[in-house]
Amino acid sequence: MIKVELADRLKELPAYLFVRLDEMKNQALANGVDVIDLGIGDPDQPTPLHIRRALKRAVDHPDNLRYPSSYGMKRFREAAATWMELRFQVAVPPPDVVALIGSKEGLAHFPLAFLNPGDITLVPSPAYPVYRIATRFAGGEVFTLPLLPEKRFLPDLESVPKTVLRRAKLLFLNYPNNPTGATADLDFFERVVAFARKYDLIVAHDAAYSEIAFDGYEPPSILQIPGARECAIEFHSLSKTFNMTGFRIGFAAGRPELVAALGKIKSNLDSGQFQAVQWAAVEALENGGKDIRTIRARYQARRDILLQGLDHLRLEYQKPRGSFYVWVKTPGGMRSEEFVGRLLAEAGIMCAPGTGYGPEGEGFFRMALVVSEARMREAVKRMGKFSIHPTGPPAAASQKPAEPAAAR
Ligand SMILES: *Cc1c(COP(=O)(O)O)cnc(C)c1O
Repeated sequence: MIKVELADRLKELPAYLFVRLDEMKNQALANGVDVIDLGIGDPDQPTPLHIRRALKRAVDHPDNLRYPSSYGMKRFREAAATWMELRFQVAVPPPDVVALIGSKEGLAHFPLAFLNPGDITLVPSPAYPVYRIATRFAGGEVFTLPLLPEKRFLPDLESVPKTVLRRAKLLFLNYPNNPTGATADLDFFERVVAFARKYDLIVAHDAAYSEIAFDGYEPPSILQIPGARECAIEFHSLSKTFNMTGFRIGFAAGRPELVAALGKIKSNLDSGQFQAVQWAAVEALENGGKDIRTIRARYQARRDILLQGLDHLRLEYQKPRGSFYVWVKTPGGMRSEEFVGRLLAEAGIMCAPGTGYGPEGEGFFRMALVVSEARMREAVKRMGKFSIHPTGPPAAASQKPAEPAAAR
């Protein structure tokens, strides 16, 4: 046997959060617990039938069975560009779109195109872990932008030291946000674009949840800001929008050089996505408006059941206008992993500990709206029976002052 030793970049990785969560859940299932899984951000509903049919049709067409273009087929890039124009009123020429094998693939590869050793990426925390890991894989360094509840989970760009900004090359953002459920409006993106232009920063905006929004809210695209076409690339995903996580399809659009560089990385590392999947995506983008409305209404109904339950328990959160997550403070300042462990063991409810998204997630847990209304009601009921204040008498809970409405 030869000696096999992992590269440092793998050795320094903590066990991927979702792998750890899976292990916890499987243990509970093995113990016979009827687990309500609000832990993983994967839609529970099937992909709409017309999209699956488009995939099946495309599989039988011999042209689709050969190597695809690394950048995506022309028809897919056109459909994505038209969708961007109809949805956000931004004119994106199809050549400024690159198809991705899921947006995670694009986000993970993007730093390889721009970072040299010693370059810095500004990465929010808590956040989707990919931004940090991809930066490290590319040899870059991470500077953390804390997302705080009192700032509505928007980063304080002005607080980044000038010495950091001199070496900073990339800024990752994600709104509607995973895990906090926070949203950003155009005035925030305007400040981001001005900041990026001042300090020569490339902005990579992860818009995976742009279509998952509530109460009539329509999340904007950073590309709507004049000047964003100079500094930004936006990553879109069909995964959450159309219940297509298994298909692995997304796209990036923005400043042509940023898109082209990502395409060049991809042409050297993968050879693009199966054309049949791209055809399914064309069907979704062109004829999926109704699906989006259905999906939004479904998550909103579940959200409202959950929020009512959280209010009853006097747990603190900010009401999400987008994403399918509710980001909740642990009661009594309990540590995230301890609380999540207890909730699983004592109530059979699986949530994601805030620390899985960075140290700034300590003291929070994430609940995903990925179970039916009936199961959500059951979760709320179980939480009501679960003693959430183990260290103090129950009376202490009811005396706790209510969160000011503005903080929600
Ligand atoms: C789910 C998710 C993605 C990625 O989705 P793909 O399936 O790779 O398109 C990207 N960013 C965030 C924040 C997500 O939660």
